[in-house]
Amino acid sequence: MLTLDQHPSGRHYLQIPGPSPVPDRILRAMSLPTIDHRGPEFGELGRKLLTEIRKVFKTEHPVIIYPASGTGAWEAALANTLNAGDAVLMFETGHFATLWKQMALRLGLEPEFLTPPETQRWRCGVQPQLIEQRLLEDREHRIKAVCVVHNETSTGVTSDIAAVRRAIDAAGHPALLLVDTISGLASADYRHDEWGVDVTVSGSQKGLMLPPGISFNALSPKAIEASKRSQLPKSFWAWDEILAANANGYWPYTPNTNLLYGLNESLEMLLGEGLDNVFARHERWGEGVRRAVNAWGLEIQCQDPALYSPVLTGVVMPEGIDADEVRRTIFERFDLSLGTGLGRAKGRMFRIGHLGDCNDLTLIATLGGCEAGLKLCGVELFGSGVQAALEFFAENPAPGTPANPGNTGRG
Ligand code: PLP
Repeated sequence: MLTLDQHPSGRHYLQIPGPSPVPDRILRAMSLPTIDHRGPEFGELGRKLLTEIRKVFKTEHPVIIYPASGTGAWEAALANTLNAGDAVLMFETGHFATLWKQMALRLGLEPEFLTPPETQRWRCGVQPQLIEQRLLEDREHRIKAVCVVHNETSTGVTSDIAAVRRAIDAAGHPALLLVDTISGLASADYRHDEWGVDVTVSGSQKGLMLPPGISFNALSPKAIEASKRSQLPKSFWAWDEILAANANGYWPYTPNTNLLYGLNESLEMLLGEGLDNVFARHERWGEGVRRAVNAWGLEIQCQDPALYSPVLTGVVMPEGIDADEVRRTIFERFDLSLGTGLGRAKGRMFRIGHLGDCNDLTLIATLGGCEAGLKLCGVELFGSGVQAALEFFAENPAPGTPANPGNTGRG
């Protein structure tokens, strides 16, 4: 292994499911001099960002931008809308749903955790029928919010949020809908207004291709109304003062100016490309990576092909193989970082991120490192995943690239 004073040549492959590789364009934008966060230049930037960010969440309503990691925005969503002792209905999709539930407990809420059957635990999406059934039983409307994770980063399963909305409506229940799309936003299709979400929580270090340090709450008018009645203690997270300052493009405290330069660049890149193209790009990468996993003969953590995440793929190890040993080998030999198995998936799987500043060949290199590392660790592979992914990428050109030339007959 290299010591700290030795310099590895070439770029490190950061293929964890966030923080994702940051494009040079964004790094350069963030390197500009820090300006006065109360001056006119900043106000102009703030007003622009607060308007443009709504397009990514697909909302007409305010989006709060916190100088905090995603965990802070989770807390803000709960602390601004709920009261001590409120029941909240959550669904065990994986590690992040579990952490959000633990946070709800610590805040003095009463989370109820819906858990799928053992064979599906941490391998399926939110099951809307279980939500509907539970809400129908709650005749006194004790449940004040339904909280679900859209893209479960620990498993690679993307849940159907529109179906959760339909379940709440079918039960005729007034609970708020709070959704974590920390790893889904700007990679997987997401529609705050259309899906009737009351608070969407997200972060900077995944699909937005920024370093960690910014997180978001997208609001609905119903959530803003609820915040006026919410008594949970909050100060830094309180929406009212932030919304008042944001009206002029400012914050009630010092925002992270240089990360906001980065956000400005990110929004120009993503909106310039068009969100539908961004989603299609991730879907295609996800399919290429899954072709590789299938060719290796390994199992994918997500059991439902309709819910495969376009952001990451969880690769399950055969019995007797320690996924972290495989990851360590790949890191030490090929300077490639993969996501570890979290919580109850520890040692059982690793995660390949296909988000951020990637392209077909960085993913092929990533799969090359995985393939070699798996073999070094004694995993018997059926065939070459690299070959399968390369064929898929070659046969299915990315939109906007020239069509395949075909056989010209010129030998
Ligand atoms: N929720 C999800 C789905 C996540 O992927 C993460 C982080 O990876 C978090 C919450 C926590 O966010 P953070 O680590 O930025 O505090």
